[in-house]
Amino acid sequence: MTSSILVVAEHQNGSVKQVTYEAIYAANQSTTEEHTIHLAIIGYEVGSLIDELKNSGVETIYSIDHEECQHYNPEVYSRALMQIIEQSQCEGVIFGHTTIGRDLSPIISANLDAGQISDVTAIHQTGDQILFTRPIYAGKAFEQKAFTRTPWVLTIRPNNIQAVEDTETTAENQVIEYNRPDSLRTVIKNVVQKSTGKIDLAEAKVVIAGGRGVKSTDGFKPLEDLAHVLGGAVGASRGACDADYCDYALQIGQTGKVVTPEVYIACGISGAIQHVAGMSQSRLIIAINKDPEAPIFKLADYGIIGDLFEVVPLLTEEFRNALS
Ligand code: FAD
Repeated sequence: MTSSILVVAEHQNGSVKQVTYEAIYAANQSTTEEHTIHLAIIGYEVGSLIDELKNSGVETIYSIDHEECQHYNPEVYSRALMQIIEQSQCEGVIFGHTTIGRDLSPIISANLDAGQISDVTAIHQTGDQILFTRPIYAGKAFEQKAFTRTPWVLTIRPNNIQAVEDTETTAENQVIEYNRPDSLRTVIKNVVQKSTGKIDLAEAKVVIAGGRGVKSTDGFKPLEDLAHVLGGAVGASRGACDADYCDYALQIGQTGKVVTPEVYIACGISGAIQHVAGMSQSRLIIAINKDPEAPIFKLADYGIIGDLFEVVPLLTEEFRNALS
């Protein structure tokens, strides 16, 4: 019997997010049965996204293209996605563990009466069973879970699972007419974009994060310079956000974003457990702190005891020279 898995594509500013390709890879690993993978794209004027994804190895791209879907609204997106789920007759649905995926997946699980496993960082097969690994207790331990029945819903943490590469095959495109409800309980009147053109923090390969030690908004400037040279994104601790040195959109941690970059450089961050929950799975952690007793050093692969305002510009200079 062939099972069918639906991957929910994510996009931002007209481009497909990397986590979509990782979710397609995850779909291939999520079952021992013969399977087909389909994609769901919901948005407005999604033609170029379909083009971008047509060689990603999926069988069908189901798209809903409607003005009402221009901005993410859980009520609209969950209705649209349920239409696609019905059409694709899928047994499993995979989202990125992103702001949208974290919001939308429980609604879909409830609608489908499905089991859900969230924030998956690895997938293994043991015998004929598929085990999904996810961090618990703020990253201090891992648990492995399995589904006992279908349907199921999965969210995968960005930057942890390999991405699929383009294939020779071309997906079939199925446009689905959006069943617009007579009335919505909420509508989006306006979207004010705070940052444009910058690398998405959750998907960045390099993150330079600042804490209360940066001391001011201007204190983030050297971190931005280093991020620019390394092609990375700037993040922050809640300490820095609470002190109004930066926007809460940059917050990493238990109540902020979860990041798993190749390199995480913590500058003037003490390493509180709530912060560590959002970055402990980073591949390489470098900490810069003037307090040798700072807890972040227990977690760091490399620690630099010193003043970030001296160390960060020196690193920027070295990397600029090395990379030019
Ligand atoms: P601090 O703990 O004040 O550390 C500043 C560090 O900077 C110190 O170690 C100091 O030695 C160093 N420093 C100072 N000057 C320099 C310098 N010139 N050069 C180098 N080093 C310097 N926090 C998060 O980050 N993310 C979360 O999601 C989060 N969620 C929370 C949820 C709850 C329910 C609670 C209770 C707390 C949460 N917190 C979160 C807050 C967390 O407990 C810490 O208070 C916060 O992480 C501290 O931020 P910080 O490390 O920047 O500041």
